[in-house]
Amino acid sequence: MQVNILCKDGIQFTKTMPSFPQNLSPEQEDELRKIANAIVAPGKGILAADESTGSIGKRFAPINVENTEENRRRYRELLFTCDKSLAQNISGVIMFHETFYQKTKAGVAFPKLLQDQGIIPGIKVDKGVVPLAGTDNECTTQGLDGLSERCAQYKKDGAQFAKWRCVLKIQQYTPSYQAMLENANVLARYASICQQNGLVPIVEPEVLPDGEHDLATAQKVTEQVLAFTYKALADHHVFLEGTLLKPNMVTAGMSCSKRNSAEENARATVLALSRTVPPAVPGVTFLSGGQSEDDASVNLNAINTCEGKKPWSLTFSFGRALQASVLKAWQGKDENIKTAQTELMNRAKANGLAAVGQFKGDISSSAAGQSLFVAQHAY
Ligand code: 13P
Repeated sequence: MQVNILCKDGIQFTKTMPSFPQNLSPEQEDELRKIANAIVAPGKGILAADESTGSIGKRFAPINVENTEENRRRYRELLFTCDKSLAQNISGVIMFHETFYQKTKAGVAFPKLLQDQGIIPGIKVDKGVVPLAGTDNECTTQGLDGLSERCAQYKKDGAQFAKWRCVLKIQQYTPSYQAMLENANVLARYASICQQNGLVPIVEPEVLPDGEHDLATAQKVTEQVLAFTYKALADHHVFLEGTLLKPNMVTAGMSCSKRNSAEENARATVLALSRTVPPAVPGVTFLSGGQSEDDASVNLNAINTCEGKKPWSLTFSFGRALQASVLKAWQGKDENIKTAQTELMNRAKANGLAAVGQFKGDISSSAAGQSLFVAQHAY
């Protein structure tokens, strides 16, 4: 942009000023802000039911359910046809492409079914984790090709938010600069494309819990990864008020000999976030990352009760920690649907309370204490 400047002595000159074209209209920004705020309303969080075909197969195997399209549909129908009061604690559901276009037995499309209950439909848009050459077994996430067109279609078909998961690994010399830079950049490109198409991007840079590292190391790495992520989001002019962050909670590695208390985990988590996540971000929706259902709820509660600077809503976007007891109760049998749905309601209620720091540990589930850790977890 060129501006003419007239000096006191009458000399006029032209100066070039930096210019930042508006990439979202005020109406687009308002829409994104509204969706993001609704997802992280007090006492509410997300059900991550977006397991790819391969991942859901791994959940079905222990209960001897064959991984067919119809069984996947039956299972998701079970999840999405709970009592209407589920919406008191579940604000949004993330689906996999196949699920997004499936219907109930009676013929109602899943996004419509959820909307009618006041639950916001979301869609996983990444196309999975791939190796990053030249690194020590690190990875990036693919799926940018055609993303804008896919987002536009999902929005037309009822999605209001999206998810893209990147994975960072703690090993002796990782995460590397290369992996942190690449994953931050691909998350920022994804976020920018989502926003152009009216979808709130959930930005998920997951630091895996695999390893022997201690809590302090997990905190330091999480801080580094988040710092890279928010630098990239700024570079790509992403509208932060219309985004959500989905990070790991900060915990010691799964093979670390020292176990920390929920209070220690919470302090490390809040400190890492306070050092790196701008207050403009409306909410943080943690993944459960292989913690047991109980641990995930107790840690989330501690995060909400501990001291510290917390300008964002701190809630859940759990996959395994909302579904382990459900799967265990279901066993693939129609006669178990009601019991399985009660398990989901209980986990949703426990985590809804934890999201406002009021979980007293008095809601239990059949798989509550069971570790849900899967080495090098894919989604
Ligand atoms: P978990 O809660 O099982 O870690 O999964 C959440 C998720 O959506 C990972 O992308």
